[in-house]
Amino acid sequence: MSSTDAVTIPAPVDDLRAWQSVLAHVEAQLLDGTLSPGDHLPPERTLAADLGVGRSSVREAVRVLEAMGLIRTQTGSGPSAGAIIVATPQGAMSALLRLQVAAQGFRVRDVVKTRLVLEAAVVADVAGAASPDLEPSERLLDAMDSSELTPQEFLALDAAFHVSLAAASGNEVVTAMMAGLRSSIEGYVQAGLAVIDDWEATAARLREEHRGILAAIVAGDAFTARARVHSHITGYYTQTALVTEAPPTPETTAVVAAPTGTGHIALSRRTAEQ
Ligand SMILES: [Zn+2]
Repeated sequence: MSSTDAVTIPAPVDDLRAWQSVLAHVEAQLLDGTLSPGDHLPPERTLAADLGVGRSSVREAVRVLEAMGLIRTQTGSGPSAGAIIVATPQGAMSALLRLQVAAQGFRVRDVVKTRLVLEAAVVADVAGAASPDLEPSERLLDAMDSSELTPQEFLALDAAFHVSLAAASGNEVVTAMMAGLRSSIEGYVQAGLAVIDDWEATAARLREEHRGILAAIVAGDAFTARARVHSHITGYYTQTALVTEAPPTPETTAVVAAPTGTGHIALSRRTAEQ
């Protein structure tokens, strides 16, 4: 039987091992911090040469890393050309939630409402923490200052920034939930691009809002941090007008509800998924 198998299954094992070794290598670098969100993956030829594998194996690993939501590749170029790290591995719970999200396609309104609850709590927690590790968040904001980023890359890093704040809170359950929701957050913010007519102005506003959120956290001002993260989330949601109803306002953040970004509101779009 094994001899028949050897004939009918033509040597995929070496290929499998090769791309898995690339995957393991990159994952290890993400876990030990050699690579972190905002960094670029080494070029395909460099990885292939360093690890002694074929470039096709590197391409396969890059596809898997992208499917895992850990990297984002540039559209219109080679599979690993300019691939940018957007997240670090977050473990089984977020992977399960991500699968759930992919399979069920949560409603955007529910995702936004969940974000408002989770992220208001997150920024208040971090603002009240004695010495939170905000370096990963700051690094992501620095990465988002680059004018080289495509809107898609920018928004992938934006979603990663919000997950990084959850990580800074030290609450592993909330972090896993945010990491699990990251792809659906990214999904609706990317879909919103279709109705943004001035991306540069929007990107400038989002950068400023992120810096404002972080500044309030650093100042230990939980109230302002909550207000700013709330208006940041509802502002983009309103701007991209994925629904025509008012943005959701959970009781926990009702007191600070004040959507901004009115200069770019476009209320004409209603998507089929809503
Ligand atoms: Zn953001």
